[in-house]
Amino acid sequence: MVSSGRDAWIKGRDASCPIRPAPPARPWRLVLLGAPGVGKGMQAELIAARLGPCRLSTGEVFRSASQLEPCDRTPALEAALESMRRGELVRDATVLALLRERVACLRCHGGFVLDGFPRTVGQAEALDEILRFERIRLDGVLSYEMPIAAVVQRLAGRRVCASCQAVFHVEAAPARTEGRCDRCGGELGLREDDLPAALRVRLLTYERTVAPLTRHYAGRGLLRPVSAVGSPEEVYGRTLTALGLAG
Ligand code: AMP
Repeated sequence: MVSSGRDAWIKGRDASCPIRPAPPARPWRLVLLGAPGVGKGMQAELIAARLGPCRLSTGEVFRSASQLEPCDRTPALEAALESMRRGELVRDATVLALLRERVACLRCHGGFVLDGFPRTVGQAEALDEILRFERIRLDGVLSYEMPIAAVVQRLAGRRVCASCQAVFHVEAAPARTEGRCDRCGGELGLREDDLPAALRVRLLTYERTVAPLTRHYAGRGLLRPVSAVGSPEEVYGRTLTALGLAG
């Protein structure tokens, strides 16, 4: 299981990160919303690399857990992985247990960028409560927006490394050697939940859940809509503008 130095997040429980980040001048604490394939994982990576916060992706935790031996999986984790394979959301209780086990990552002085969490209003309310308890304030909720037809086209070209989970795109961000990861040489392939049947379910689920979630954050004055159309750098430029950092 590769964790790119984010052991505390990927492994949870008592794991700690091998390298503690130096406190950045400003520790950003952000939530990223957007349809599957809209490119929010890429934006989370860029924000993490350039502004310092750690990328905390719940989907990545589930994908790493899927590499555990079956005997090391709890029934709740088995059920979560089955939901993921079908493209459905994992139960709130399971996702929230995962987050609570990793609350130290929210406290980290490097800041955080939550990618793929929250997905429901129940999760958003639970996050509000955890942050209130921890006296942590969110700086903003970036909502990446793109027409669904463009999202489907993007997902068809997405390729993910089976070992380190680095993400490529056959057109927008191709690997140097076709089918091989630039970072670790691992094999590139489609994510199981990018296969057409699961993808349909994921997009329908997203359409059903996005409006209440954006209302939740708009009502708190935190929502920052960002157009996700264009290259990763173009979208990152808009991200900086949305955070008041452009120019
Ligand atoms: P992602 O990598 O964020 O697209 O997540 C991949 C899959 O993991 C989703 O389709 C869900 O099955 C599951 N998942 C990740 N995060 C959550 C969440 N916050 N709530 C429910 N399910 C989640």
